[in-house]
Amino acid sequence: MNIYHPIQELQASGIITAGISLRHGGVSRAPYTSLNLGDHVNDDPDAVEMNRKILFQKTGLTNLRYCRQIHSAAVVPINDAAQRVAEHIPEADALVTAQHTIALGIFTADCIPIFVLDVKTPAIGIIHAGWRGTFARIAVNAITQMETSFGTLPKNCQIHLGPSIQKCCYTVSPELITQFTEQFGSTVADGRNLSLQTANVNQLTEIGVPITSISISEFCTACRTDLFYSHRAENGQTGRMLSFIRRNPKN
Ligand SMILES: [Zn+2]
Repeated sequence: MNIYHPIQELQASGIITAGISLRHGGVSRAPYTSLNLGDHVNDDPDAVEMNRKILFQKTGLTNLRYCRQIHSAAVVPINDAAQRVAEHIPEADALVTAQHTIALGIFTADCIPIFVLDVKTPAIGIIHAGWRGTFARIAVNAITQMETSFGTLPKNCQIHLGPSIQKCCYTVSPELITQFTEQFGSTVADGRNLSLQTANVNQLTEIGVPITSISISEFCTACRTDLFYSHRAENGQTGRMLSFIRRNPKN
């Protein structure tokens, strides 16, 4: 059984492994059925631990770093491969690294997992972009941090926006529509439906990421609760997928 969806657009380079877990193949019970990887959604902690083991075994993921996500625009560079995970779970919504031995992860259930690969340096990044993070330009912050820490240039970034709630299902208040169109242009809205994907693409192209280097998943999480968790479609009671990215071992 497949328990994760590989991000082929980034893996084509052969440099990295990237993917997002699907909701099947785990041990959690309803409403978390069944591969819930989030330990902050009131699921049985033993089930979450087992689910993480199942995914790590399936993917070969080791040394996964993640953060306590707070819908912020905060980015944390992870440089110390030897540090124990339990001793360092920063409050943030994006992680970047240039260490081959570190995998980066983000938990979502509608918010956009954004994968960043710098093709010229060893740097990678992963971002949790809901509406708050998108509005606060967390994707730009992450690339700016990669530039500061690792010399990344926006023009060398390959970026993928993973499965997330799309315009078809994301109806928001008129006030939020106005805030977003003022910041990111009229293309982000269609009536009261908001495209967080377009808002992120627009802010990334503004800083010099080529539009041809950005890909967007075909999957809307709210349309496809057969495959993914959706916070909105499941009325806030659901699990979390894990999106991950790591450099392949040097050969
Ligand atoms: Zn949809």
